[in-house]
Amino acid sequence: MEICRTIAEVRSTVESLRSQGSVALVPTMGALHRGHMSLVGAAREQHANIVATIFVNPTQFGNSEDLETYPKTEAQDLDMLAEAGVGVVFIPNADEIYPDGDQTIVETVDLANAFHGAVRPGHFRGVATVVCKLFNIVQPDAAYFGKKDFQQLFVIRRMVRDLHFPMDIIGVETARDHDGVALSSRNVRLSSEQRAAAPILNAALQRAEVILKDGATAEAALSSVQQTIGTEPLGVLKAVDIVDTATFQRVTGVPMTSVGIMISVQFGNVLLIDQREVAL
Ligand code: AMP
Repeated sequence: MEICRTIAEVRSTVESLRSQGSVALVPTMGALHRGHMSLVGAAREQHANIVATIFVNPTQFGNSEDLETYPKTEAQDLDMLAEAGVGVVFIPNADEIYPDGDQTIVETVDLANAFHGAVRPGHFRGVATVVCKLFNIVQPDAAYFGKKDFQQLFVIRRMVRDLHFPMDIIGVETARDHDGVALSSRNVRLSSEQRAAAPILNAALQRAEVILKDGATAEAALSSVQQTIGTEPLGVLKAVDIVDTATFQRVTGVPMTSVGIMISVQFGNVLLIDQREVAL
């Protein structure tokens, strides 16, 4: 496995691999777990060469967010990626990606600031900007993203369409712990009490799915989520939205098509997010 820390290195390494087959990109912020590895596994099924990136992108963190305390486990991450058959890992530092600051930004204007973007100002602008840079640097045939970060997946799809990137964006199902908690690098920052309470996200989503399948309105499903999370004193519901999975528009009334329910819940300093697709 080639480990590249500069843009020049990763460009020439990927270039030398292109003749051996297609290139898939798996962007991450490191502190890897089984969820990240499921993206690598899905990419390997379709592509000869896998490029993973590890970059904790400063521009997607708000002032009060957890940039400084974001977990870093580089040696272990590299072992996991090598074992999974990744050919190239790109681990730049912030100066490599933002050598002259961040004057050029990419923003999917309305989508970036709606839903979960409304509670994290600037977050999806930072995500789109860094992912655009990674796409330009690696020029992959496809890139893989988790459905857990449901709005992120749609932001990237929209950016790729609007900026005419000639590549596929693939969404991968959420990998969960034994108790239903979505795997996340942030879970290690939960106290044992908060971790014990974290299954409430999945429970709230499950309950909302049941009532939607019984014919309830989106509004009723939203209040069911609010009620379920309200029973957990350690968690504060920051956002819950129900969107059409085809258009990513807010759904009102009784949904007629498949929807995605997205929630984010704050436990102390840690923001957990989760999502469930409901086929109707
Ligand atoms: P992160 O390192 O948290 O930025 O995540 C990198 C990629 O892994 C993103 O596309 C995430 O959506 C995806 N991801 C994170 N957690 C999971 C999970 N539990 N299951 C599947 N994909 C995930």
